[in-house]
Amino acid sequence: MQINKNYDNLEQSYLFSTIARKVSEYSAAHPEADIIRLGIGDVTRPLVPAVIDALHAAVEDQSRQETFHGYGDEQGYGFLHEALVGYYKTHGVDLATDEIFISDGAKSDLGNILDIFGADNTVLIPDPVYPVYVDTNVMAGRKVIFMDANESNGFLPLPDASVKADIIYICSPNNPTGAAYDRAGLKAWVDYANANSAVILYDAAYECFIEDENLPRSIFEIEGAKTCAIEFCSFSKMAGFTGTRCGWTVVPQALMDGKLNKMWLRRQTTKFNGVPYIVQKGAAACFTEDGMKQIKETLGYYKQNAKVLAETLDSLGIWYTGGKSSPYLWLKCPNGMGSWEFFDYLLENAHVVGTPGAGFGRNGDGFFRLTAFGDQQRTLEAAERLKKLLG
Ligand code: PLP
Repeated sequence: MQINKNYDNLEQSYLFSTIARKVSEYSAAHPEADIIRLGIGDVTRPLVPAVIDALHAAVEDQSRQETFHGYGDEQGYGFLHEALVGYYKTHGVDLATDEIFISDGAKSDLGNILDIFGADNTVLIPDPVYPVYVDTNVMAGRKVIFMDANESNGFLPLPDASVKADIIYICSPNNPTGAAYDRAGLKAWVDYANANSAVILYDAAYECFIEDENLPRSIFEIEGAKTCAIEFCSFSKMAGFTGTRCGWTVVPQALMDGKLNKMWLRRQTTKFNGVPYIVQKGAAACFTEDGMKQIKETLGYYKQNAKVLAETLDSLGIWYTGGKSSPYLWLKCPNGMGSWEFFDYLLENAHVVGTPGAGFGRNGDGFFRLTAFGDQQRTLEAAERLKKLLG
């Protein structure tokens, strides 16, 4: 027996465990400190009533002979495909139902999609970024190269014609930087990918935060994207499904003349048995009139937090990305502080916890992530503390 030695090449991530340790040590030494956590990437608001009602009704369906559902199609139920086709239409994208695959979330698909690509591909990943892209490729032994996202390109790197890559990851709006590509930026990537016979793995998990008409919500809004891109998206941030689990992946038929769509279907029907009927019913309820309205209200709650934090950074003259089309704000640590130095400084002097940028890649050092997923009153309180400390 031989193990997969590629696992030895994974870098240990101590980011969230180190944060947890530092916060608990500080709390133990200063039990009176009222600590506000603006570091979490998880949602905090409950599922909306339209989703809850659909979940309850689906549970009832499972109790009756006539409406009971056993195994469903691995790629998801038709009712959810139809609802998603309608959703994409609202931002000008035409999809066929067989181009959409329902999953238990974007993270699984982002990892699993690598099954359909050869091991010898060169993979291009932005730094800093959501760590799953790097680790899933390291596990498979692929060669990973990085593109620098930094202050000079607004954390939105553009293609470099001298770099040859086969698989390109783009996350927009980005985790952790909150930066989102405009049409021209995405078009540059689509043109590069088509010219190099490369594929773009486009993570749109935060598209629901985009309000600016000039920013695409789907890569398929860009001409030429259907011949070079696969899109991953999720109900997690859109509708609070982080614990309920549902997402989707779009593999266009125009990509390699349908070859990748067929391969992904084969992969899913072989290794996956579908998302629970009950969960898919809850997900579909997001696209009803009531569902959409209620989801927008919840997103508005987080967006208000993002606005408060953005205004705070504006008033302090601190450089940042995100906050407008994203629940994340990515700020430059004041006075040249390193990410961890600033973490300690904020914890000790304002009792506010964020996430050090260094945990997301080399270019993250000197930067810091705040999130808008917290409680509104607590976020306001944190903003006041930041103003007092850094003003
Ligand atoms: N993609 C990005 C960029 C994320 O930040 C996250 C979760 O935080 C995910 C994907 C995972 O989404 P899901 O809950 O659908 O697995």
